[in-house]
Amino acid sequence: MEVNDVKIYEYDAVVVGAGLAGLAAAKELKEAGKKVAVITKLHPLRSHSGAAQGGINAALGAEDSTELHEFDTVKGSDYLGDQDAIELMCSKAPETIRWAERMGAIFSRTEDGHIAQRPFGGQSKPRACYAADRTGLTLLQTIYEQAFRAGIEVFDEWYCADLLYDGKGKVKGVAAYNIRNSEPAIFNAKVTMFATGGYGRAYKINSNAHANTGDALSIVARRGLPLEDMEFVQFHPTGLGGSGILISEAARGEGGRLFNSEGERFMSKYAPNAMELASRDVVSRAIMQEIREGRGVGPNKDAVYIDLTHLPKETILTKLPELRELAITFLGQDMLKEPIMIAATAHYSMGGIPVTKRCQVKKSPDETVEGFYAAGECSCVSVHGANRLGANSLLEALFFGREAGKAMLEDMEKIELEPATAADAEPMIAKVNRIKGNNGEERVPVLRNELQESMTMDAGVFRTEESLLKQKQKLQELYERYQNIRIDDKSHTFNTDLQEAIELGHLIDFSLFIVEGALAREESRGAHYREDFPKRDDENFLKHTYARFSGDYELDLSYGDVVLGKFEPQERKY
Ligand SMILES: Cc1cc2nc3c(=O)[nH]c(=O)nc-3n(C[C@H](O)[C@H](O)[C@H](O)COP(=O)(O)OP(=O)(O)OC[C@H]3O[C@@H](n4cnc5c(N)ncnc54)[C@H](O)[C@@H]3O)c2cc1C
Repeated sequence: MEVNDVKIYEYDAVVVGAGLAGLAAAKELKEAGKKVAVITKLHPLRSHSGAAQGGINAALGAEDSTELHEFDTVKGSDYLGDQDAIELMCSKAPETIRWAERMGAIFSRTEDGHIAQRPFGGQSKPRACYAADRTGLTLLQTIYEQAFRAGIEVFDEWYCADLLYDGKGKVKGVAAYNIRNSEPAIFNAKVTMFATGGYGRAYKINSNAHANTGDALSIVARRGLPLEDMEFVQFHPTGLGGSGILISEAARGEGGRLFNSEGERFMSKYAPNAMELASRDVVSRAIMQEIREGRGVGPNKDAVYIDLTHLPKETILTKLPELRELAITFLGQDMLKEPIMIAATAHYSMGGIPVTKRCQVKKSPDETVEGFYAAGECSCVSVHGANRLGANSLLEALFFGREAGKAMLEDMEKIELEPATAADAEPMIAKVNRIKGNNGEERVPVLRNELQESMTMDAGVFRTEESLLKQKQKLQELYERYQNIRIDDKSHTFNTDLQEAIELGHLIDFSLFIVEGALAREESRGAHYREDFPKRDDENFLKHTYARFSGDYELDLSYGDVVLGKFEPQERKY
């Protein structure tokens, strides 16, 4: 890759990521007549949003209210969520569903024609609107069609590898390369948005797509900007035994029951009221505790059962058809006839790039970066705080994605385009050439495997000072070994060796934020569980973590205030 080959594209707006958040923003911008480029390493319809199964929350019925949705979300967040952002999202949820519906999203219906809603963990009412168990796919297809119809330009199979940040407070676009032929380019724009989704791939057992490698987070962090609340990683209780492929919460929402090897419905010990529908952190810990105490099932005793055999066959066939297929394909177990094996799986990342309610990226708790926005799972606005409730993140991606589009439209009028030159692509090119030219002994899959196994073991569902210090040391070792990698494919065409090597660098970079944040947070809150500090400590830790690189592979940690509101912190019980 050479600086001489760099193409410079000029747009009003550039959006990186073509999941729900990115497409919602791009559609908004394009419909207002702006010139928009969407850069995505996958075809838009392969974005992880399309894998979402269970549902999207909105208080629709007469029995429910947006205030109750707000309360459940604040409580679910273990009071770390920012209540102004939560209020905004929950109050706009019904409108967001209607917007999606009018665009053409086909939701499942009740007998009398209303949008059907199912119960989800931590929600006091059935609130998750769904399209069988393919909710994300339906939404993604709908919004893609509409954004496409509006005329967005999609650069698919393009890899964004750098952010054009001036180091002081302004972004003017990104550097990317075409995966098909390694052609480097600069996308120069007044406003830039990151919507690159989740980053569960730092863990061995996870429910995420291969592409969920947290690229944007590490790119932002390497530019000296902070990341927020990275220690909060959600483990979903029901990943298929062995692989972690998701069995949606819809399985418990429809009535699935959990059993250990002794045939005991063990949730009665951990959440006597909510049982299987307690929030995800509570159920995940219960499952892992049963396994640790020797009551697991399966050849390695590292799973428990979810049983749906008591449900009417019709319910499974019409409401959970994909889940049944997954269990048959990957485990050979048919949920119509037998219980299936599940265990906790790394699923969702609450932390991310800090943003305001207008999705403007923050460079500190109270300063923003001009021309730079983020929304969806890669961002932290913080509506999920320490733990996300199921069916709240499709809502977040759609709602805040659209908000980002609106904010970009508004701000664009005041922002001058700062021209870019080919030289702006130099850091990306140097990195690519360094990886290709490196002749070390370390192999990418080996390092990635060691990273994922050790993160699962020592920075997973249960954490202690000892395990986290051990993991910090392991990360240091992996970071050093990463400098000494070698890839075999030196070609320009679909070089997946190169891409995986860059992605491994990203995984190693942001994992340090998870571990350091977790080490400093000497309390247990939401998904972050410290066995050595099992209680929540509002006095010292009702605050957001902000961390940034202060050296090659060292971090500086600081803290920012949580936006409190009408719901006072209480003990969280289910
Ligand atoms: C199996 C599964 C089931 C889920 N079920 C539900 C559910 O039922 N309800 C719910 O509310 N939530 C659910 N979630 C969570 C929810 O789906 C996600 O949080 C949400 O869809 C994220 O949307 P997004 O737009 O932020 O990102 P994504 O949809 O993940 O899109 C990310 C985009 O970024 C692009 N990208 C990434 N890196 C780069 C790069 N370097 N260069 C170029 N492009 C890049 C990708 O190509 C992709 O287009 C589920 C998640 C999983 C994994």
